[in-house]
Amino acid sequence: MQQFQQYIGGVFSDGSARFESRDPATGEVWAMMPEARAPDVDAAVAAARAAFHAPDWADMTATARGKLLYRLADLIAENAETLAQLETRDTGKIIRETSAQIAYVADYYRYYAGLADKIEGAHLPIDKPDMEVWLRREPLGVVAAVVPWNSQLFLAAVKIGPALAAGCTVVLKASEEAPAPLLEFARIFDQAGFPAGVLNVITGFGADCGAVLTAHPGIDHIAFTGGPDTARHVVRNSAENLASTSLELGGKSPFIVFEDVDIDSTVNAQVSAIFAATGQSCVAGSRLIISNQIKDVFLHSLKGKAERVRIGAPQMAETEVGPLCTDAQMRRAVELVAASLAAGARIVTGGQPLEGEGNFFPPTILDCSSAPDAPCLREEFFGPVLSVCGFDTEAEALALANDTAHGLASGVFTRDLTRAHRMIRGIRAGIVWVNTYRAVSPIAPFGGQGLSGHGREGGLQAALDYTRVKTVWLRTSDEPIPDPFVMR
Ligand code: NAD
Repeated sequence: MQQFQQYIGGVFSDGSARFESRDPATGEVWAMMPEARAPDVDAAVAAARAAFHAPDWADMTATARGKLLYRLADLIAENAETLAQLETRDTGKIIRETSAQIAYVADYYRYYAGLADKIEGAHLPIDKPDMEVWLRREPLGVVAAVVPWNSQLFLAAVKIGPALAAGCTVVLKASEEAPAPLLEFARIFDQAGFPAGVLNVITGFGADCGAVLTAHPGIDHIAFTGGPDTARHVVRNSAENLASTSLELGGKSPFIVFEDVDIDSTVNAQVSAIFAATGQSCVAGSRLIISNQIKDVFLHSLKGKAERVRIGAPQMAETEVGPLCTDAQMRRAVELVAASLAAGARIVTGGQPLEGEGNFFPPTILDCSSAPDAPCLREEFFGPVLSVCGFDTEAEALALANDTAHGLASGVFTRDLTRAHRMIRGIRAGIVWVNTYRAVSPIAPFGGQGLSGHGREGGLQAALDYTRVKTVWLRTSDEPIPDPFVMR
């Protein structure tokens, strides 16, 4: 059985306890993970704090930090296959997707490597004759990066990349559900040449690890990705250390299709939006909002594709839909489908877990045209389940799209340019994809509003968000200070 270790202060160790990790495709225990509890969290935060102040990091030039990030990117690219296989084994995400995503993760580090020495301060045209005033951008300090199991190397990169570029140090907490890829990532990071303690990687459970870390007095900023319920705990925890937070949470994203689209191409986009990654994506286009003029023909084609999807072992190159990562997600899918049917939703295809080993749930489509209150229209499944509503007018489409407490992503499919612009303006979400879906880039900010959280990852602003401004006042006059009782 494979054994993994945590990484604290540049040293690999076993943690306070060990726990099992299961292969979600077979249910078999395949690895033992190091469980971090309060003493490990304390050690990781202390290591990150010491590294933050140590001259070999604090005095390193931004250009040199960038060079280390480039080296890390190269190491990730060299080890992409191993990382992809581990992610597929531990999370059940299909190898086609993990391979492509991890190869791209290296580019996220390259983007922030290049930005490290472009984080500039400013000089202010101050309204006083004998004063020079400027702004220095300084690193926030020690960052707690808390991530879920899905797309974990990517979600870690959009935190570690900008944080290290800015000069912060990081304690990364991998999800207890499938931490293998991030614990392996620690081994790769160790070879890049960063000073010890700049990055520490631990894993453990919510109460004994996540809560201790996010309430820890040694933490300055919490970069959290996960579900809204956990985010509420994290925000409460941050009342202890008054750390700033950025929250990337779940979604219930609309996928809006007008009657003038190319049906085949848009059906493909919908397949990628909800069935790729087995629907375990925060940006999953899980609500199809479709013109009643083409609803029947579109659903007919989509049902055919959904039923032809190849479900199987995630390691097989031909597999298109793998298992759900956790037993809890299976239970949730079953319960949410049942509650939605009770509320009047109709099954177009799927709806029942597959028999046999593993957490396999098939691509599922629920027609909610006569069930506006069905929970599947409100609750995130984090699985391959699509809810469908028809509309007659553009105003109705927009109202349905915005009928959600989330606001992460959205898709608009139309050939009508002016209508596309009206929809872009009207949709309440952090991302609008027009005639495409699930496109990401290190250059483009990513994030949401409402129950989907706040803050943006990716892009230039994300690096600035790991800094704070220090205002410097320098008096240039040699004259004695005048009247001390008047504010200058
Ligand atoms: P989760 O919220 O259960 O767990 C996320 C992390 O929080 C884990 O590491 C977990 O151990 C930790 N945690 C649990 N309790 C904690 C506590 N009390 N204090 C601090 N940390 C604690 O999420 P999950 O089920 O692993 O992941 C799925 C969720 O993540 C979905 O809602 C999904 O949409 C969301 N997600 C969002 C994005 C995004 O970028 N917006 C990306 C991926 C996933």
